[in-house]
Amino acid sequence: MTINQIVRNTVERLKAEGKVWTPDVYAEIFCAEAKKAGFAVEDCSGIDRYVSLFDKKTAEEIKQYRVRTTAELIRFLISKLSRLNPSEASVLVELLSSLAKKMAQSIDALHNPDASALAKKTISILDSQGGVTQIDLLKQAWTNFLTIYDDTFLMKLAQFGTIDTGNLRRTIEGLNLQDVNSALGCVDYAKTVRLLVSSLVPSIAPSMDNATIALSQKLQDKPEYVASDECEKDLKTAIAMRIALDKQSVEDMVRALDTLLEKLSAQLIDLIERSENSSTEIREVKRDLEALESNKPNDFKTAHKRLYAIASTLEEKVELLSKDLKVHNDKVTQMGKKIVALEAELTQATQASREDFLTKLYNKRAIEEYLAIKEAEYERHGRKFCIAMLDLDYFKVVNDTYGHEAGDAVLIAFSKILKDEARTSDIIGRYGGEEFLAILGDTDLAGGKVFCEKVRSHVEQAHFMFQGERIKVSVSIGISERKDFPSLKAVVNGADERLYDAKRKGRNRVEPA
Ligand code: GH3
Ligand code: MG
Ligand code: MG
Repeated sequence: MTINQIVRNTVERLKAEGKVWTPDVYAEIFCAEAKKAGFAVEDCSGIDRYVSLFDKKTAEEIKQYRVRTTAELIRFLISKLSRLNPSEASVLVELLSSLAKKMAQSIDALHNPDASALAKKTISILDSQGGVTQIDLLKQAWTNFLTIYDDTFLMKLAQFGTIDTGNLRRTIEGLNLQDVNSALGCVDYAKTVRLLVSSLVPSIAPSMDNATIALSQKLQDKPEYVASDECEKDLKTAIAMRIALDKQSVEDMVRALDTLLEKLSAQLIDLIERSENSSTEIREVKRDLEALESNKPNDFKTAHKRLYAIASTLEEKVELLSKDLKVHNDKVTQMGKKIVALEAELTQATQASREDFLTKLYNKRAIEEYLAIKEAEYERHGRKFCIAMLDLDYFKVVNDTYGHEAGDAVLIAFSKILKDEARTSDIIGRYGGEEFLAILGDTDLAGGKVFCEKVRSHVEQAHFMFQGERIKVSVSIGISERKDFPSLKAVVNGADERLYDAKRKGRNRVEPA
């Protein structure tokens, strides 16, 4: 390729790229084309050979600022040198930096979030003495802000007051805010928030959770927070929490009620089991309880009230019952004592029922019992026995002469003689008015006659005294042995017949003699 061709290529390229034909640009393109055509060209811009002489940082800067030509390199170096002048350039840079910082702080204080954020970023970059790239980007960001900033929204307020675009404060102070709110469809957040906050308070649970308390406070302090997305999220959580708290409370109350019902029922059953007298009253309480159980009221206040009433009634009944029980207890003790006394009386009465009231000998009933026993012994074991029948002679005369009382005294005295003469194993009883019967165990007729004779002579010789007077008394006796008769009845009749024999034969004698 010839030089002419390279020149032509250079011109075409300059045209195609629309570049200005400065000598520097021309030289650069020509050099590049020559290099492409295979000519030995060291460097096209002519600065590369100098760049390698600088330190790494400066070389980097030269590249960044796109220094291409020698003239640009010289300008770059001059400016760098003047900046590096410690007495002037650094002071200037510092001053500019702090000025920029103060401006950024002022912007931050204004009420535009985008400007504020950008200002904050600027301050931090200035503080950290950020590099060229950062400052360049920052510059670009400020340019963008200015490009898109639009304050025409302020004009919407023109209908409510005078707009001073140069003084926002004056503009706002001059506005009729009431009109602004209603016209712009703004809600009176404070009122809404008051309702909202009160609705966050659980209706059953006794307390609120901390997050909801914090949210309520936040809403009261800053009602407009209610319009934020964040608040919507917070409210959802608070509502869920409120429902959970109320639910928990309801569950706790139901559990408490159930426990109470169970306890009351258990007490009631216990009471009913223990008491017979109060059971009707307590059953009424039980019916109340059952009604409550099967028809649980929705309202806890009512449930509590009813349960309280039931519990009070129950308490009353229990008190009455325990009083009752105490009284009954006392009564039972008294009755116990009475029973002991009655038992004693009964023993006495039983004894009395077998005893003759006057002479204290066995009565006819007891005699008959013993007769049956003796008869059984005789039949089973052949145990012998005799029956003696004794009757006082002319006793009617004794009564008539000395009186009935004297007669009684004679009867008592005669009984004593009988007892004295008999063995302890003999059974002696009063069989009729002044008629006596003796069962002489293990005794044959001969033995029996001896006993009868002893009694007869003892009576004959005895001094029956009544009120200082001696009463003459005698006794007639009939005796029979069981073995001489076919039956018990026969032996008793035998003794009786023999007694009448003795009467017939003159009295005061034993028959058979
Ligand atoms: P006897 O037997 O010798 O033929 O004549 P008696 O006078 O005893 O006749 P009887 O047996 O007929 O009369 C019995 C009397 O005994 C009649 C009654 O007044 C009297 N007597 C019966 N029981 C009692 C009593 O408990 N006390 C008294 N004081 N007298 C009685
Ligand atoms: Mg008689
Ligand atoms: Mg008689």
